[in-house]
Amino acid sequence: SQPPRTITVTGAGGQIGYALLFRIASGAIYGQDTPVSLRLLEIPAGLRSAEGAALELTDCAFPLLRSVEVSDDADTAFAGADAALLVGARPRSAGMERGDLLEANAAIFGPQGAAIARSAGPDVRVVVVGNPANTNALIAAAHADGVPPGRFSAMTRLDHNRASGILAAHLAVPVSDIDGVTIWGNHSATQYPDITRATVGGASAIDLVDAEWIRERFIPRVAGRGAEIISVRGSSSVGSAASAAIDHLHDWVDGTPGTSWTSAAIVSDGSYGVPEGLVSSFPVRSVDGEWRIVDGIELDEFSRARIDASVAELIDEREQTRSLGLL
Ligand code: NDP
Repeated sequence: SQPPRTITVTGAGGQIGYALLFRIASGAIYGQDTPVSLRLLEIPAGLRSAEGAALELTDCAFPLLRSVEVSDDADTAFAGADAALLVGARPRSAGMERGDLLEANAAIFGPQGAAIARSAGPDVRVVVVGNPANTNALIAAAHADGVPPGRFSAMTRLDHNRASGILAAHLAVPVSDIDGVTIWGNHSATQYPDITRATVGGASAIDLVDAEWIRERFIPRVAGRGAEIISVRGSSSVGSAASAAIDHLHDWVDGTPGTSWTSAAIVSDGSYGVPEGLVSSFPVRSVDGEWRIVDGIELDEFSRARIDASVAELIDEREQTRSLGLL
């Protein structure tokens, strides 16, 4: 068997944390040959909930699970981490301005970035789930002295999976037939779910669906899926968010198969006109444990405008973050 891996989950006492922990412990990220140790970080108010999850994890008798530790101290929780899923975040409350939200989250993600730099393992890979995820990842990376920016990413895999699932359902094909979907930009309503390069069982998706469906139905439905889930279910998505976080980390450490790609928000190298240093979603492959942006995609005018609009929002978040002295 492989050497054990340590995975830190923040906000582990919350809904998404609860849905994540059992799958991680059963081997969903590193596979059936790799034992895992879990470290759960919570704020004091969330500790009992995380401790309860830890008791239940013990009760599952997962053969791969070596240990579960719960802490409200970031350095303790990130100690030796091979991977960190940053789920805990400050939700927007009534009357909160965007600046307040950025500020409240910078107070979480800045210190966590610094603690990761001090305490995590040398190969640590960080996935930010807590919103505003892209900017939270930017802040964490900026505070993690000595950790390569490429080790930080934010999750747009849920949007990617939603886009793939909605396209498959529309065409009544298995989702495993779908490839080449891309989410560009911010994990927000401005995201651009792009199927211009998508294939369905090898055929081009845009030959199978009409342009009006893409613009009037598909894109708004993917971008608005979070709100749709809330209205149907009565609360926000949990299982699908946890599942996407696992997919993201699994593909990052294990590699994307063949020529297929996925979507992740990573630190831009300037590709596709996205300003360097912004954390934006791209089409990516994982090779040797590194995300690589898929290059050479020609963007039509519509795609260009949609990407620019979402990137403009990211630039604005970065500007606000800077002007508040948080970067
Ligand atoms: P959830 O577990 O439901 O959500 C956690 C975060 O994931 C939120 O920021 C949420 O954003 C985000 N998220 C990203 N994508 C999605 C998606 N598609 N669907 C739903 N959520 C998404 O929240 P809970 O309130 O249940 O749990 C949060 C926990 O974090 C609490 O236990 C709290 O104590 C803890 N916490 C821990 C911190 C720490 O470890 N230092 C710091 C702050 C909080 P959105 O709000 O936009 O839905």
